[in-house]
Amino acid sequence: MFATCDIGEAIDRLRKRGYDVEMHPNPEAPPKSLILEKVRSGIDGLITSLRDPIDAEVFEAGKGTLKVVAQYAVGFDNINRADANRYKIPFTHTADVLTEATAEFAFFMLGELARKMWQAEHLTRENKWGFWHPYLPFLGDEVTGKNVAVIGTGRIGLAFIKKCVGFDMNVLCYDPAYQNDAFVKTIQEIDELRFARGLVREKAWIKYVPFEQALGEADFVSVHVPLLREGESPTPTYHLLNEDTLKLMKRTAYLVNTSRGPVIDEAALARALRENWIAGAALDVYEKEPLPLDSPLRDPAIADRCRLMPHFASAARITRLSTDPDKGMAGRCVQGLIDVLEGNYGGDISKMPYVVNKEGFQS
Ligand code: NAD
Repeated sequence: MFATCDIGEAIDRLRKRGYDVEMHPNPEAPPKSLILEKVRSGIDGLITSLRDPIDAEVFEAGKGTLKVVAQYAVGFDNINRADANRYKIPFTHTADVLTEATAEFAFFMLGELARKMWQAEHLTRENKWGFWHPYLPFLGDEVTGKNVAVIGTGRIGLAFIKKCVGFDMNVLCYDPAYQNDAFVKTIQEIDELRFARGLVREKAWIKYVPFEQALGEADFVSVHVPLLREGESPTPTYHLLNEDTLKLMKRTAYLVNTSRGPVIDEAALARALRENWIAGAALDVYEKEPLPLDSPLRDPAIADRCRLMPHFASAARITRLSTDPDKGMAGRCVQGLIDVLEGNYGGDISKMPYVVNKEGFQS
């Protein structure tokens, strides 16, 4: 098999089971031509990451030999699902094990942005911290007790809400496809208990609302949707945040994105920041990665209100590298591969927990 990136010790688990695993040695993604060459050489398993475009060309190259694609990520927008189904190739992902790490990182980005931690540390490091003053050289905005809109209440969105509850935040949920009312009820019970026991002065609330209302009433908007392009869903997420929808946000509101870059129209966002339609944005993902040198998001004029992270939200030690399928992306990625190649679950691919495109294998 071939791995397009080094996923650490988990590869040894495969080798110990007798698999012959070749790993792309460079930290940069292999060119597609190399992936095609490896697949054509007859490998049965391919370990991929979000950097690798996997489509009909790749499946065609592996016709008769390639049995599984194991994606080292929860998002799989780089894999053409319809093509995988057409070629009857199952692909797996690493959901759940990165949920808390990604959610907490989104929350930390929100805090860093609102409380201007980046600028504050620069003051200290650049020796511009000349005095303590009630409001100079700048102030941040409190997070505690504010309204947060959570766009997409799947695994990471719900985990993110759990973090927000600890900061007494009111939560506006939006998700056109999946409304977890039991979760909302649990959070309401927690909000009520925190109020009843005197932990907070005002009772916090949580509710599902329409998209426009979520944007319009939020002090913070955090995006947790998959990238779904036109034709891939009745509610695509491509450019969900654009000139029109950014204008629905309060001028004092902040936007956080740890989902996928193309969910936000970056040109519109750069304009929104330049012209102060919104107060700030913290981004972990971009329309093009790594972020190009000429991106308008790098404009020094908006640097005080635009935090830029290098697709880093799941980048925590255990989350990335644990070989335990219940703890780490590496462990789960390898387990998904083993399930398919070794015919676990009675060989029924539609029953394998980490396979994404189960619909292609229903009997
Ligand atoms: P999930 O499938 O559990 O949740 C996604 C939710 O978004 C679902 O409930 C779905 O109904 C909802 N949704 C779909 N279309 C929508 C729309 N138009 N508007 C609002 N909601 C919509 O996925 P997850 O595990 O929570 O992960 C979410 C995404 O986060 C992944 O697909 C991935 O792209 C991204 N991610 C990024 C990082 C990172 O390092 N930055 C890490 C992990 C995941």
